[in-house]
Amino acid sequence: MYNKDVELTRRRWLKETANKATIMAVAGIAATLPITQRAAAAQLTSQAAAGYVDQPAADGDHCAICQFFIAGTGGPSSSGTCQAVAGSINPQGHCSFFSPR
Ligand code: SF4
Repeated sequence: MYNKDVELTRRRWLKETANKATIMAVAGIAATLPITQRAAAAQLTSQAAAGYVDQPAADGDHCAICQFFIAGTGGPSSSGTCQAVAGSINPQGHCSFFSPR
């Protein structure tokens, strides 16, 4: 015998379960973001290990013309960041990972 009340309850349960699963999935993704960001930061080499200095190399190599340099937003002489080396990077600095653009 078909029971409409049971069917509605089942539908409601399925809908609520799906909503909860979606919320838990979104919360799970959000919970992993800080870990992902920490992992990305942990993969950068320290300035000391990279041999980074705030001066151009003797041959003129410097961060502003390196493929790994990410320019800052304060103009061409402002510090930026690097895809390989951690921390603030002077566009006139260089390190042992220098690779021309
Ligand atoms: S890899 Fe080295 S030279 Fe290149 S931008 Fe980063 S710190 Fe500067």
